[in-house]
Amino acid sequence: MSSLSLEHIGKKYPNGFEAVKDFNLEIADKEFIIFVGPSGCGKSTTLRMIAGLEEISSGTLKIDGKVMNDVDPKDRDIAMVFQNYALYPHMTVFDNMAFGLKLRKVPKDQIEKTVKEAAKILDLEHLLDRKPKALSGGQRQRVAMGRAIVRNPRVFLMDEPLSNLDAKLRVQMRTEIAKLHDRLGATIIYVTHDQTEAMTLGTRIVVMKEGVVQQVDTPQNLYNEP
Ligand code: ADP
Ligand code: ADP
Repeated sequence: MSSLSLEHIGKKYPNGFEAVKDFNLEIADKEFIIFVGPSGCGKSTTLRMIAGLEEISSGTLKIDGKVMNDVDPKDRDIAMVFQNYALYPHMTVFDNMAFGLKLRKVPKDQIEKTVKEAAKILDLEHLLDRKPKALSGGQRQRVAMGRAIVRNPRVFLMDEPLSNLDAKLRVQMRTEIAKLHDRLGATIIYVTHDQTEAMTLGTRIVVMKEGVVQQVDTPQNLYNEP
């Protein structure tokens, strides 16, 4: 049974521009789906519609058969990790990771337990009292991941999460994301420009162009074609 289905999804922005056209995809539980395609082809728009940060103009988004189109972002069981991390600069690592849980009125002792567990997974335990400006790029990226992990979502959406890191860190974080995917058993949808990331992480790759899905295939079939 499919965990996430996009049925004829379209996005028309208020200015009339059609950023996404008739997007169809069935995503099974625990898949690692990669979106690739030139800048402006509609990758982020699609992620934001799945997250509920952008209204779906046409079509239907379902999780386990339940229509999600009008469900509030915070009730979607989906967490998004952004390219620019979007950390609160005035809050500590702990508070940044706890924020989404506080918003959902999770009890304090439960928050503490959950944040500490996530910090352990992400090797952030010793940094919980720091502010983002006192962290390296890789550490900030881990905090951004931590904010998503604490919610234990069914689906993670990652919009070029490694693109602000230098080459060495990117390789290291790529390995960590692969481990995280195994460990969490969640579905991941991941936008990247990096072919190596797409090949090593993806179970399937969705190629987009000008708002239209061109191809959906495994990395093997997509990149090893003669
Ligand atoms: P990608 O993530 O693939 O780079 P985006 O989804 O960000 O692409 O953008 C897809 C297209 O929609 C681009 O042409 C972009 O300029 C346009 N777009 C994005 N946001 C808006 C908006 N609020 N209003 C109008 N057009 C937009
Ligand atoms: P969630 O865990 O529900 O995604 P977030 O902590 O990401 O919660 O964000 C909660 C709210 O705060 C959202 O409305 C989001 O748009 C806003 N927000 C997120 N990051 C920032 C930021 N760096 N500065 C200001 N507002 C933010």
